Amino acid sequence: MNAAFARGAVWLVGAGPGDPDLLTRKAERLIAAADIVFHDALVGPGVLALVPPSVELVSVGKRSGRHSKDQCTIDALIVEAALVGKRVVRLKGGDPSIFGRSNEELEACHAAGVPVHICPGITAASAAAADLGLSLTLRGTARRLTFVTAHTKRGEVPEIDWAALADPQATLAVYMGKAAAPYVSAGLIAAGLAADTPVALVENASLPKGSQFRTRLDLLPIAAKTALSDGPALILIGAAVAEPNASSSLETRERLSREDISSFAAHCFWQ
Ligand code: SAH
Repeated sequence: MNAAFARGAVWLVGAGPGDPDLLTRKAERLIAAADIVFHDALVGPGVLALVPPSVELVSVGKRSGRHSKDQCTIDALIVEAALVGKRVVRLKGGDPSIFGRSNEELEACHAAGVPVHICPGITAASAAAADLGLSLTLRGTARRLTFVTAHTKRGEVPEIDWAALADPQATLAVYMGKAAAPYVSAGLIAAGLAADTPVALVENASLPKGSQFRTRLDLLPIAAKTALSDGPALILIGAAVAEPNASSSLETRERLSREDISSFAAHCFWQ
C-alpha cells in the first residue's frame, strides 16, 4: 500500500463491478484494516462478505430514484467518523472516480482537514466488455472511448451534446442510461450516427446472473424496455460491439477444411 491506513483517514475504495474476484488486493486489505465501511447499494453481497465481522458496516445505498441518504448526509457521516479517529472506507461500485460522486466526498474531507485517498476499481464498462468477450477499442476503427452518463431526474430529458458523441469511430459507454435509452437513441441518430450502429446492453456485468443483449441504435429503446430487468445496466454503442462477423462465425470456421487452414497459415507466414 503506498500510504498506510492511518487512524482518522478516509479511503474511497473501488469495489469493482460486483464479482468479488475483481476487487483489487489493495481494496481487500483496506477493507480488512478499516474500523468502519460505508457502502453503496451497487456493492454486491459477494464483496460485502469480505468485510470482517469486527468492522462496522453502514449502507448508504443509493439507487436511481430511491436515495436512502442524500449526498450531504453521506459526506457528513464520513467526515464525522474520521474526526473521531476511525479508519474509514467509503466503498463504491466500480471505480470511485467514474460517476461515483467522489468529488463531493473529497471536498468534504479536504474542508475538514481529513486525509483522504483513492483506491481505484474496475469500472462497469471494462466488466461489460469482458462479459461480451470484446475489445472496447479497435485499431483504426474505434479510436475513442467515451464514458457518459445519461442519468436524469425522473421524467427529465438529459442535457447531452449529442453532436459531440455521434462519432462512428468511437465507442460510447453509457452509464445509468436505462431510463434515458429513447433519448440516447434519438439524440445520436439525429446527430448523424447510423440507425444500424451496433449496441450491446449488459446487465449485472461480472455476476453469475449477468445478461447480455445485442441490438442496433434505432431499436435501443425497445430493447432496453424488454431485455433489461432491475439490475444495473450499461449500454455500449459503436462498431466495436458488433456481433462477430460472418467470416469469423462458427459456421464459416466449420466450412474451412484442415487443408484450407494450413494453406492460409502458410500464406500468412510468407506475406
Ligand atoms: N463507479 C461506477 C459507476 C457508478 S454509476 C463504475 O465505475 O462502474 C452506476 C451505473 O454504473 C449503473 O447505473 C450502471 O449503468 C453501471 N453499472 C455499475 N455496475 C454495473 C454492472 N455490474 N453491470 C452493468 N452496469 C453496471
